[in-house]
Amino acid sequence: MKLIELIKNHAQTQPDTLAFVNEEAKLTYQELWTKSEILANRLQKETIGDASPIIVYGHMQPEMAISFLACVKAGHPYIPVDTSIPADRVLKIIKSSKAELLLNNSGNTVDTGDALISVIDPIQMDGAVHHETNPENWVKDDQTFYIIYTSGSTGNPKGVQISARNLQSFTDWITNDFPVENGHVFLNQAPFSFDLSVMDLYPCLQSGGTLWTVTKDMINRPKILFEALKESNINVWTSTPSFAQMCLMDPSFSEELLPDLRVFMFCGETLPASVAKQLKERFSKARVFNTYGPTEATVAVTSIEVTDEILEHYSSLPVGSEKPETEIVIINEDGEAVKDGEKGEIIITGASVSKGYLGEAELTEKAFFTYNGAPAYRTGDAGYKENGQLFFLGRLDFQIKLHGYRIELEEIEYHINQSQYVQSAVIIPFYREDKIEYLIAVIVPAKHDFEKEYQLTSAIKKDLGSTLPAYMIPRKFVYQEEIPMTANGKIDRKRLKEEVSI
Ligand code: AMP
Repeated sequence: MKLIELIKNHAQTQPDTLAFVNEEAKLTYQELWTKSEILANRLQKETIGDASPIIVYGHMQPEMAISFLACVKAGHPYIPVDTSIPADRVLKIIKSSKAELLLNNSGNTVDTGDALISVIDPIQMDGAVHHETNPENWVKDDQTFYIIYTSGSTGNPKGVQISARNLQSFTDWITNDFPVENGHVFLNQAPFSFDLSVMDLYPCLQSGGTLWTVTKDMINRPKILFEALKESNINVWTSTPSFAQMCLMDPSFSEELLPDLRVFMFCGETLPASVAKQLKERFSKARVFNTYGPTEATVAVTSIEVTDEILEHYSSLPVGSEKPETEIVIINEDGEAVKDGEKGEIIITGASVSKGYLGEAELTEKAFFTYNGAPAYRTGDAGYKENGQLFFLGRLDFQIKLHGYRIELEEIEYHINQSQYVQSAVIIPFYREDKIEYLIAVIVPAKHDFEKEYQLTSAIKKDLGSTLPAYMIPRKFVYQEEIPMTANGKIDRKRLKEEVSI
């Protein structure tokens, strides 16, 4: 695979260039290559199924990148799992993926329940002798390179399988069509279990750059984050718009802090025109790109540079035109392509489309199909095309984005309803200026002995904390005697929204 060949090439031609930097550790290309070879050798000796997925558990440690490469060099797809994911959800991922091996980079023990899974600690590996892995054995073509688990409406996360071909098509696009140069420093903000991280990780490694990672601790302590940014020499900024918006709240977030910043790349949620405008004002030498796409079509499939003209022309920004090897079609409810300017569901076709959800034939069949002979994915997003530009108009279902995180509201509802203190529950997003600010749980409580509402809330939150990541736990809890229904017996979400969003 070209990507792996190029990393090998950098390890030979620029061995001392840093491939990975975090608060505490650094890793050169030579170390990345050699350590991943040693670990790949070890993985090849494990008695696990031929293409059995391997879970890579940890946060922003350099060992994460070593582990990813080692897995694919040994012919196995990997599943990145961040330490912020609660134990119960990790167990679900282990079970649903049928993974037989977990690489634990977290420095802590990890609960694997009663699953038959071996755990290796790559940090502890003794790396004396190794033999070169054979490129023939590396993951290639349509074999799965990684599997990323996203929120699923049935209460279980679903694993999107991305092949070597899918990933190569994406990485080539970013390195060819964006102002990314060999040796650039890339910001990595998203944990590796979210596919936004792929937008910096692989284009960076393919172009011989340095990945500069932000840990959860740094995000929680902006002062430390800004001090570190000052020393970072970042050229390419990839993050959610929400993260950039948070940074913009600090007046020092400007080209004085990051004089070498040349490119902002956004994906994952709506980029407000006001954020793009402020970034262009504060970073006069940087170009801003809005990109769009779901995990199921390998990170992003459209892009547009947000120029002054675009900002003048549109109050809601377009998400751009298709990458090479990709076509977007807008279809109506009968599945027919509509004309330019007409609204419908966004369908993505071509080289970026995943082969489907791991072990979930039914879910795969619902979302993936063939369109004019090409693999296609129903995004569930509403939109329209005009003059070659795609415009995003929100979701057709209950999937939302909160601070860049993809969430199925039904998944939260499913878990809240499991709590002994809850009779029924509905989750309502609270909007401010077209953007979701937080989630509200409207709850009809079951019988309980708490005297005060806050005690009830903290008991429900505690239950939720063991099954859902923190970003999926609603901020506000509202208690009612009943949930309003529409005339045709559905939950009246519109009325609930009006009642609780004050
Ligand atoms: P994820 O799989 O986490 O990347 O989430 C994919 C979903 O995020 C898409 O289906 C859209 O609903 C939303 N999304 C991604 N990029 C954008 C964008 N540039 N503007 C608005 N929404 C976006």
